[in-house]
Amino acid sequence: MRKKDQKTKKDNHAKKRRIQKEVLSWYREKGRDLPWRLPRAESNGRQDPYKVLVSELMLQQTTVATVLQRFSLFMERFPSLVTLADSSLDEVYTLWSGLGYYRRARYLHETARRICEDHGGVFPEDEKTVRSFPGIGAYTGAALLSFAFRKEVVVKDGNIERVMVRFGGCEGATVLEQRREVDRVLNFYHVRGWGSEWYQGLMDIGSKLCRPRSTECGFCPLYEGCRSRERSPPLRVLKGEKKVKEERYVVWLIEDGSGYFLMEKAVEGGLFGGLWIFPLQKAEMCDEKGGRTSVLLSDLGLESRLLEGEVEHRLTHIKMRICVMKLRVGSRSDLLKFFDRLGCGEVGSCDWIHEEGMKTVPAWVFKVLRFATLDGGMGGC
Ligand code: SF4
Repeated sequence: MRKKDQKTKKDNHAKKRRIQKEVLSWYREKGRDLPWRLPRAESNGRQDPYKVLVSELMLQQTTVATVLQRFSLFMERFPSLVTLADSSLDEVYTLWSGLGYYRRARYLHETARRICEDHGGVFPEDEKTVRSFPGIGAYTGAALLSFAFRKEVVVKDGNIERVMVRFGGCEGATVLEQRREVDRVLNFYHVRGWGSEWYQGLMDIGSKLCRPRSTECGFCPLYEGCRSRERSPPLRVLKGEKKVKEERYVVWLIEDGSGYFLMEKAVEGGLFGGLWIFPLQKAEMCDEKGGRTSVLLSDLGLESRLLEGEVEHRLTHIKMRICVMKLRVGSRSDLLKFFDRLGCGEVGSCDWIHEEGMKTVPAWVFKVLRFATLDGGMGGC
């Protein structure tokens, strides 16, 4: 190697070390105090695996602000992996309310059980086993291994990706190209022995200084090496087009005259597995104009009304378009017969629930209630 090249290599190495040191000391001084992290002065970069697991599952698709409101309550009720594993799924769902995407609660519960049953309650530390648990994808697995066990893995969440796009000036002509550029930068800057603090520091920079729409470059510990510092507007992470499927549903809003609604517990493993929902059918299975259903209803001396318009609700890959059928009944027993004949669900899995008692329900249930209220509540059936 020529002398000049050797010098360039040495300079680059020194610059890399300076940037790494800047981020680590910024994190120790100014990183976020989050309830799932140990105090930075004491942690030595190592976090409690149970708290990392719970917080990371909560943070999938939910903002930090919302998780902050729920995390401590969850920890009070389930302070350890064992208490979580020993609890019923219904209890976990109740504590999960407000976070949405209840499937994550089911995954968390199952993971806790499997760690207790198959690993004696001790968190496994190898990637293959960690990734075999439900709901633990590439990012969550890497976060667990790095933050809890200080393994030498690269961690990349949305914040880190955005910071690295800007720091590395990764413009990328395509999503894939940009991701590859980011991965190269991340691999190059990985700090051996201190990855946990390094990646948590990058996350905090993304949250406090290098935000999606604005940057505070003057305060950023990455300033020296950043290839897009002070750039306006800041560089963006390219997004691929998400394929969203549109599905049409008919939901039955059935009230007993005293404010209680008929709800069914959705079958485990389905879209809303284990949650309480209003009886719901795919639109093509149910004549929303009332044909087959209205015959069944008039058979039983009941009347229903299809509300004008529809409710829209977005799941990760599905856009739900929901028509609402309102029905008010005098006798609860009539309904169970009807419900049985309609084939919406198992009669045994139904219950009458007041709005105030709707705890483990998906968000669209409240949207449907609001929609019906705008239409004049349960009157007019
Ligand atoms: S210097 Fe500015 S653009 Fe670069 S990483 Fe820091 S905040 Fe983001």
